[in-house]
Amino acid sequence: MFRKVHLYLTALCAGITTAILIVMSLLYLYLSEKELYENQFRSFQNDINTIATSLEQQSVISMEWLSKMEARGGYTFYALDNGIPFLYNRLTNLSESSEIRGLLENCLEIYRNNYADSYVSDTDGSTPFNTCVHTEFPYNPTGRQHEYYISIIELNRGTSSMQLLVLSPLDFLREQITRQRVRFFLIDIAALLLLTLFSFFFTGKLLQPVIESRKKQTEFVAAASHELRTPLAVILSAAECCRDAEAEKQSRFLDTIRQEGDILTSLVNDMLALSASDTQRFTCRPAPVELDTLLINTYEAFEPLAAEKKLSLSVTLPEESLPLCTADADRIVQLLSILLHNAVSYTPEGGRIGLSLSHKKNRFYLTVSDTGIGILPEDRKKIFDRFYRAEKSRSAKGHFGLGLSIASEIVRLHHGTISVADRPGGGSVFTVILP
Ligand code: ADP
Repeated sequence: MFRKVHLYLTALCAGITTAILIVMSLLYLYLSEKELYENQFRSFQNDINTIATSLEQQSVISMEWLSKMEARGGYTFYALDNGIPFLYNRLTNLSESSEIRGLLENCLEIYRNNYADSYVSDTDGSTPFNTCVHTEFPYNPTGRQHEYYISIIELNRGTSSMQLLVLSPLDFLREQITRQRVRFFLIDIAALLLLTLFSFFFTGKLLQPVIESRKKQTEFVAAASHELRTPLAVILSAAECCRDAEAEKQSRFLDTIRQEGDILTSLVNDMLALSASDTQRFTCRPAPVELDTLLINTYEAFEPLAAEKKLSLSVTLPEESLPLCTADADRIVQLLSILLHNAVSYTPEGGRIGLSLSHKKNRFYLTVSDTGIGILPEDRKKIFDRFYRAEKSRSAKGHFGLGLSIASEIVRLHHGTISVADRPGGGSVFTVILP
């Protein structure tokens, strides 16, 4: 299921980012191409200005000069002297009815129809003496965009007039633009591949916590069912035996049922507490509390249980008075009870359990130490996991490996830390630090 979601998210993420990239690329291409053509048109106009000024200043227009100008700008010139094709016209000499010739004639036609107020052949002597005007415009004979820029320069000297048509093909610019488009296309393809790879890893990382939480949930359900099975099986078999047993034996079976029922209740309560913490319903109502008073109360509550197991329980408090701690008193008692309950359960008869409180650098240090079976270094991290029980403590009845998970949840709610260490001389020490 997660594989499908992963692929779907990858496609979605890569698709959206690539679509944005393509739109941006197209926009950039559009603007840059527009600017290229505009710049080219401006530079063409500047060239024509220079040519027109030189033409105006020359009394005799030399063929050599015309051909030099033509070669320099990569242009094609077509000149009319008083409406008659000029001797210079290279193209007209090459082929009278060539395509280019038709093109040039066509340009003149357009110019006459759209731009020229008076065409040279219409000159009737009213044309102003010694004038030079020029007009530039784009020309697309086949209907495609950006084929040529055209300029018509009209030079009038008294009654004689000359027209120079300058044709600037835009092939090189179109080639440059095509190359730019291909480059962008290749960059976009590469970006698409990279974005797909990135999206795959990115969404994989995003899904990781969901996958882990799902895995934990499945493990939790499996472990919970496993833990529930044993007391239930005992209850069912005790109930079965109770039915056929003699009256005096029945009470023993009923006691067993009651005991297992209590164990089940505590297990279900623990599971409910953890489920509440998962759904953020595990509440904590902090208020100023006297931790030393809480410690003494818990000590007193556990004293009979410790005595029953022949354990000595002691409490150590600092001599100076402590500041109030902002904490949920009920949760702190629950936390201390879990630690003390474990200490009592995992310490053999004759052992010692110590409860202590100290205050350093604005922090409260709560410790529960015992001279019990101790915890192996490889188990120290795992004991805070749900349903985890170290090998040597598996035989303890009524323990399901949930106590420390609840304890660490309480500590987390108080923004504190919980850790475990070896007690010098054997046993373990749990330390809770509260800010
Ligand atoms: P449990 O209900 O099984 O005690 P906990 O989450 O409280 O569950 O503890 C997890 C495991 O950590 C225990 O099963 C035990 O192996 C180990 N443990 C906890 N406290 C102690 C202790 N004081 N001494 C030795 N082992 C301990």
